[in-house]
Amino acid sequence: MTEIHRSIDVVLVGFGWTGAILAHELTAEGLQVLALERGGWRDTPTDFPTTHAPDELRYYWRHEMFQETAQETQTFRNRRGQTALPIRRWGSYLPGVGVGGAGVHWNGQTFRFLPSDFLARSHNQERYGALPDDMTVQDYPVTYDELEPHFDRFEKLCGICGQAGNLQGDLRPGGNPFEGWRSNEYPNPPMEMTFSQDRFKASARDMGLNPFPAPSANMSRAYTNPLGVRMAPCTYCGFCEKFGCGNYSKASPQTTILPVVMQQSNFRLRTHCDVLHVNKDRDNTRATGVTYIDAHGQLHEQPAQIVILCGYQLSNTRLMMLSGIGEIYDPATGQGQLGRNYTYQVMSGVDVFFDDAFTNEYIGAGALGMVVDDYNGDNFDHSGLGFIGGAYIACWTTHARPIESQPVPEGTPEWGSEWKRALQQNFLRHTSLSVHGASMAHRENYLDLDPTYKDRYGRPLMRMTYDFTANDRRLSEHITPVAAQIARGMGGREIKVNALDAHYDIWPYQTTHNTGGTIMGETPADSVVNRYLQSWELHNLFVMGAGVFPQNAGYNPTATVAALAYWSAHAIRTQYLRAPGPLVQV
Ligand SMILES: Cc1cc2nc3c(=O)[nH]c(=O)nc-3n(C[C@H](O)[C@H](O)[C@H](O)COP(=O)(O)OP(=O)(O)OC[C@H]3O[C@@H](n4cnc5c(N)ncnc54)[C@H](O)[C@@H]3O)c2cc1C
Ligand code: SF4
Repeated sequence: MTEIHRSIDVVLVGFGWTGAILAHELTAEGLQVLALERGGWRDTPTDFPTTHAPDELRYYWRHEMFQETAQETQTFRNRRGQTALPIRRWGSYLPGVGVGGAGVHWNGQTFRFLPSDFLARSHNQERYGALPDDMTVQDYPVTYDELEPHFDRFEKLCGICGQAGNLQGDLRPGGNPFEGWRSNEYPNPPMEMTFSQDRFKASARDMGLNPFPAPSANMSRAYTNPLGVRMAPCTYCGFCEKFGCGNYSKASPQTTILPVVMQQSNFRLRTHCDVLHVNKDRDNTRATGVTYIDAHGQLHEQPAQIVILCGYQLSNTRLMMLSGIGEIYDPATGQGQLGRNYTYQVMSGVDVFFDDAFTNEYIGAGALGMVVDDYNGDNFDHSGLGFIGGAYIACWTTHARPIESQPVPEGTPEWGSEWKRALQQNFLRHTSLSVHGASMAHRENYLDLDPTYKDRYGRPLMRMTYDFTANDRRLSEHITPVAAQIARGMGGREIKVNALDAHYDIWPYQTTHNTGGTIMGETPADSVVNRYLQSWELHNLFVMGAGVFPQNAGYNPTATVAALAYWSAHAIRTQYLRAPGPLVQV
């Protein structure tokens, strides 16, 4: 029998980055807030002490902090017409599970999107003419200027380390000259760079490019954030991405917000509670709460005045589909919004091998890098190139973890004594450049429900249909050679270019930057949520995360995810609570 609980003001589905932000914002408003998290409790001293945090086998290869596919997965295919198959082991991206979500094991590369990224359709059409019909690229219904204060808040919360390139319109040497204006300098100075970044910077400068230190959520010095939570300087241990930081040096929900939120008497957290359904009233205008299942298999109904989905892009989209909120997108007709404009990232790279120098890449951090943005977004003239969008080129020194990192030059056998000799020779004398590009929305890339495969509760899995488009390939073909040229200028013995694969492959890790599916827009005819991330259908349902991006950009998403979460929380606090109802009239 379902256990029915007393109604609460706000229920949060998922307790990662966006859940933590919303919990803090709404408890500050005096609301009773409950977070339901499908995974367990996790904290720095108990779960990632420095003694075992750097356990590559346990955390990366055995996926201790990622969602188990035996419990929840999805199906995948490249194109409509193919049969999608279930993902039995995560590869290309790694959905998080447990308190802190993927915010525990992210790198901390914390970029703001460019102002023109928010106008991906209108800006590009104005400059280059009409886009092809099958490119469903769409503007955001919110501008960079509106989000700027919220980017600023997230950067202060996390203590982001960097160097401003555009301080209130004043261009600053050494920063990113293409970035949107910022109201404040970064809270902390850039991280210490290593040999590889110095060589990258010199080579990029020789080419007339504008290198700048990557904005990093790994601390360059001790920092106390505006909530009074303290972080320690990073030790450059190199076990950031896919790991929790045992040193309190990487901004995460645990190191920035939870020490405050967990003390609030009007906040409660229930772990091991998997939300199965968002419940609605008969008129289909309000969410009445959620149904979840606990670790003992007991079903619960949690009524709430406001329901907020904070379960990461993939989970939020599926939950809305399973709850019958909105019409699922059909690429054959173009009807339906839910699942539309799924996009991702277009990744390529270049390895550089040195003879006469040690790069010592094992001394690194998740966001230790030097970047050029000259080929990102619309920072360069695309006339006649046949694509829109761009990529940053970066020299990251994130790690040289012994199992994951096996840098060998082109032509080396894949096993045996020759492979071992090459690895021994190059392990300490290698670095790499990465090209991190935008995948532009396309009519045929989307999410829906699988007609065949079901989860352990008998509910359809979500099906992903995704492949790189002609735009993606041209983008990568244009920008990867620039990275190769920078690499050549770094003075190594040889380079190896790792081009974009012809087709998207779900297996090798690329990024956990899945976007779209619950996109924001101007009207219910072009989106799932309005400019305040409020469902068009159920006015007391709000949806967080990168699922609301109508279009991805050439950057990591989390700063924009967080800025939108603050923006939405502000609208709930200042508008919705005063007059509950649709915040945008159409
Ligand atoms: C290895 C890795 C490296 C990354 N590096 C970067 C980076 O350098 N820069 C960057 O910008 N971004 C990075 N990201 C992405 C970043 O982590 C995400 O953008 C961010 O965590 C998204 O926040 P979120 O709140 O939407 O989801 P999450 O932080 O993942 O939180 C979602 C939470 O909801 C829970 N949940 C989901 N469904 C349910 C349900 N039905 N019921 C109950 N609970 C549920 C999950 O268990 C999870 O804890 C990285 C991600 C990964 C995995
Ligand atoms: S590199 Fe720095 S931030 Fe990352 S896990 Fe190590 S100490 Fe923490």
